[in-house]
Amino acid sequence: MIDRARLATLTEREASVFAERNPKSAAAYAEAGHLFGRVPMTWMNKKAGAFPLYVESARGNRVVDLDGNEYLDFALGDTGAMAGHSPAPVVDAVGRRIYEQGGMTMMMPTTDAEWVGAELSRRFGMDAWSFALTATDANRWAIRLVRAITGRSKILFHSYCYHGSVDESLIVVGPDGKGMDRPGNVGAPVKVTKTSRVAEFNDIEGLERQLAHGDVAAVLIEPALTNIGIVLPEPGYHDAVRRLTREHGALLIIDETHTFSAGPGGATQAWALEPDVVVIGKAIGGGIPSGAYGLSAELAERILNRTDLDIVDMGGVGGTLAGSPLSVAAMRATLEEVLTDAAFETMIATATAFTDGVREIIAEFELPWSINQLGARAEYRFATPYPTNGTDAAAAADPELEDYLHLALANRGILLTPFHNMALMCPTTSLDDVAAHHAALREVVAELVA
Ligand code: PMP
Repeated sequence: MIDRARLATLTEREASVFAERNPKSAAAYAEAGHLFGRVPMTWMNKKAGAFPLYVESARGNRVVDLDGNEYLDFALGDTGAMAGHSPAPVVDAVGRRIYEQGGMTMMMPTTDAEWVGAELSRRFGMDAWSFALTATDANRWAIRLVRAITGRSKILFHSYCYHGSVDESLIVVGPDGKGMDRPGNVGAPVKVTKTSRVAEFNDIEGLERQLAHGDVAAVLIEPALTNIGIVLPEPGYHDAVRRLTREHGALLIIDETHTFSAGPGGATQAWALEPDVVVIGKAIGGGIPSGAYGLSAELAERILNRTDLDIVDMGGVGGTLAGSPLSVAAMRATLEEVLTDAAFETMIATATAFTDGVREIIAEFELPWSINQLGARAEYRFATPYPTNGTDAAAAADPELEDYLHLALANRGILLTPFHNMALMCPTTSLDDVAAHHAALREVVAELVA
């Protein structure tokens, strides 16, 4: 369907436009000789052009790069900036803490923390919350706690999940149907099958087979996979997950870091899920490092009653800057004033318009693609119908096609998430912004299939 020679020619053209438009970014990258891989964090090398775009400024869903080019940002820091860039209430709250009150990191509580705990309870239904600075850490600490409680060693994941750089989670279903290290897994401490089990998303029998070993402390899942396209649960899947975890004595941890897009209380609230633990990170701090995990009251009590577990010192749970005055002030402002229930209504309506428009373009050009929406986020995949598990979704990747689209859209002032074709709406993303994306996508697709 896609003429690969044409794709290569168009990509070459867009790469040279990209280089011409961005000489300052190119020079900054060339000069960054003291950085590992020339970037502040190695993922920033996930780029469609020869160098990453350097940021000059960003507000709401608007970004200006070092060369003065303006973008509509549908990447939003891969969800870290779902509240929009530097939302005023967060800037004010953080500014108050910095300039007026002082005390950015203390190892002493501030009263904002209880407000945030209560609000997270209202949204996600868990009773007892603790904070982290990243979703990765929140997942790590949740994993330690469920292992301690159950006395079981293994955590069960979905194939091609992503839950941060958590050792246990880097597992996929191999060609023989058995678990294996995720390709590229860096410096694994032990073979991942020692610590973990894996099942395909939407595979109830596979999940049951793994749980039947009786060694699974918890199933740690996203309610929909969001790091390999958006793979949605089939009707009844979550009921089966909950029933089987209970039957087999495993706890259920739901990671809402990305699926938060489903609504103010993530998919947990939107789909009435019943986890034992909820993990969330990234967006809840409005750009200031933040993460959290919430436990059911029963689980919290069981842990607090265990005198052999050191959760107040160096037993392996917690971190020095976690729950800092700065971080909780940012979470409070984000939840109280930015990512509110009303904001989600707007964001989801905008994402619906985004999805409908992309679907029209797919139909108009008879592309073998499809798009899924999860509340405020949507993502197209180069397969139709949309894959229903991680392995099939991984097989539908097309890096060359993705590079062309990302480059061509960037040259037309649109940023998509580098890791995928994901578009996320923040509270200030407008229908005009969505229309601008559609006009650009239509143009670059039309050239491709001409
Ligand atoms: N959980 C999920 C579902 C994620 O998508 C990610 C990051 N993409 C993480 C956890 C980890 O977040 P962080 O890298 O900020 O720790």
